[in-house]
Amino acid sequence: MAGKPRSGCEALRVVARCRPMSRREEAAGYERVLELDVKLGQVSIRNPRAAPGELPKTFTFDAVYDASSKQADLYDETVRPLIDSVLQGFNGTVFAYGQTGTGKTYTMQGAWAEPEKRGIIPSAFEHIFTHISRSQNQQYLVRASYLEIYQEEIRDLLAKDQSKKLELKENPETGVYIKDLSSFVTKNVKEIEHVMNLGSQTRSVGSTNMNEHSSRSHAIFLITIECSETGPDGEEHIRVGKLNLVDLAGSERQNKMGAQGERPKEASKINLSLSALGNVISALVDGRSTHIPYRDSKLTRLLQDSLGGNAKTIMVATLGPASHSYDESLSTLRFANRAKNIKNKPRVNEDPKDTLLREFQEEIIRLKAQLEKRGMLGKKRRRSSRRKKAMDGEGTVDNEGEDENEDGLEKNMENYLKEQKERLEEEKAAIQDDHSLVSEEKQKLLQEKEKMIEDLRKEQEATELLAIKYKAMESKLLIGGRTIVDHTNEQQKMLELRRQEIAEQKRREREMQQEMLLRDEETMELRETYTSLQQEVEIKTKKLKKLYAKLQAVKAEIQDQHDEYIRVRQDLEEAQNEQTRELKLKYLIIENFIPPEEKNKIMNRLYFDSDEDQWKFQPLVPTGG
Ligand code: ADP
Ligand code: MG
Repeated sequence: MAGKPRSGCEALRVVARCRPMSRREEAAGYERVLELDVKLGQVSIRNPRAAPGELPKTFTFDAVYDASSKQADLYDETVRPLIDSVLQGFNGTVFAYGQTGTGKTYTMQGAWAEPEKRGIIPSAFEHIFTHISRSQNQQYLVRASYLEIYQEEIRDLLAKDQSKKLELKENPETGVYIKDLSSFVTKNVKEIEHVMNLGSQTRSVGSTNMNEHSSRSHAIFLITIECSETGPDGEEHIRVGKLNLVDLAGSERQNKMGAQGERPKEASKINLSLSALGNVISALVDGRSTHIPYRDSKLTRLLQDSLGGNAKTIMVATLGPASHSYDESLSTLRFANRAKNIKNKPRVNEDPKDTLLREFQEEIIRLKAQLEKRGMLGKKRRRSSRRKKAMDGEGTVDNEGEDENEDGLEKNMENYLKEQKERLEEEKAAIQDDHSLVSEEKQKLLQEKEKMIEDLRKEQEATELLAIKYKAMESKLLIGGRTIVDHTNEQQKMLELRRQEIAEQKRREREMQQEMLLRDEETMELRETYTSLQQEVEIKTKKLKKLYAKLQAVKAEIQDQHDEYIRVRQDLEEAQNEQTRELKLKYLIIENFIPPEEKNKIMNRLYFDSDEDQWKFQPLVPTGG
């Protein structure tokens, strides 16, 4: 969509989604405690243990999706505009937040095999590459990374060496990043899906119990889209959009005594990133807080931009409809409700330093120059009968589009080498036939020729490699608008446009309804004339009843919040006790088993590296002069 502002203040978009009752829940006869008003964008939750007169609690969001909602509804209405922004050079983030088993992974990934059940991530793949193929006069480079945060450790799901733990670093220009995180340049949907599947496999291989593991780890799929385009100023500009697709750990409170053999350390550690997320949101919303505790966890550091920063962010709060998840659902709704008030300042990343696209462009020019130099060696042009097919450097993809230019170049060079080889072979034969030569001499000459043939072969190989590399790199820079727009493409486009319009319309309607509701409540105060005393009494009684109900709801809310606060405090106290105990043990060991002078030596070498957020040892021998 055109005409969007390039920057400005924008609230986090928060939507709620409720999955259908599961078969198990139905069989067990659980009641439904959630009601969704899709038109109004509201969720009501009823306490199954409600005291008489207790009313359901109602929350309003940017949109809500009930059990009958389709994956495409959520994508078209909520996610598509965000991805469009990322394609324009904004940073974007989609979080799925909720209790385990409520549909976070279903929403983010969905069922791959069935097109209508594909989640946000695969839909975004389609969206991105379709957009690129339709673009004109733009060059794109798309790359993907996949990582996981488990027990406050970052794991690169695409790395060969899984034992390596990655570190967060900070760059004053580009912000927080992960050092040595691998990323793969992808040319099409198939390739990026392949990357995603690779990571998912690694994720499940590394864990003995996938359910438990995924409920305690955060998975982040990262797509970086670089786009270069010649601006009105005649200069080439590069815009970079980064997209974080985040499947968070289950939001349920860890039951310390629950799962078998679970160490308390694990439970408290997994809570860290999520509770830090909660704290960051609270601090952002509070307005009085000057300190936002981003540094308290890996997740919040990594997603700092997405919360109160320069990104556009969507949170999908996932819910279960049944009574047994009442407490968790309520807590999810409250969390989402708070997140609504976060304001971001999204802006386009224009011409940042060190883009991979620029690097690629330069490397391509360099390779081309090298090839030309080699190609220039060929003096005569002749038709070549045989052409070796260049294969992709990484062997992941089939090459589609071919470029005549490079083919010519390659042919030219190949002919030259072939000629040279033929000449050498001829000379070799001549030596063989020359009876005037002594056999020793003959041998020597032959060996020389052999060596020359060998050198030639090596050169040919090197050139071929160069050509392969060149082609591989060139093919990774994606240029749209090459193929003539065909009819189906156009129709598809129209269809999408219609769907977008409908989604937009629905959104506007909902916003208006929400607005009206708000007005209704405000204007409930007075400004009415009464025809009779009797009528006045009736109307005022009605109002009083409404207001009284509201008062009760607010009171209940305060009580709930208070209870929640106490629970969290107890949790924190417990964690603190645990750590104090641990600390005491360590002191005991130090005091009884380590001689004081050794201890002092060690202590003197310790320093805190604030970059990496951990204690380190100074090297024994000072480095440098
Ligand atoms: P989570 O990742 O939050 O733990 P899952 O995505 O694994 O939850 O969902 C749990 C189960 O519920 C899965 O079997 C999933 O297919 C199903 N499910 C979740 N959301 C929906 C939905 N909107 N429609 C149909 N099935 C769903
Ligand atoms: Mg999951």
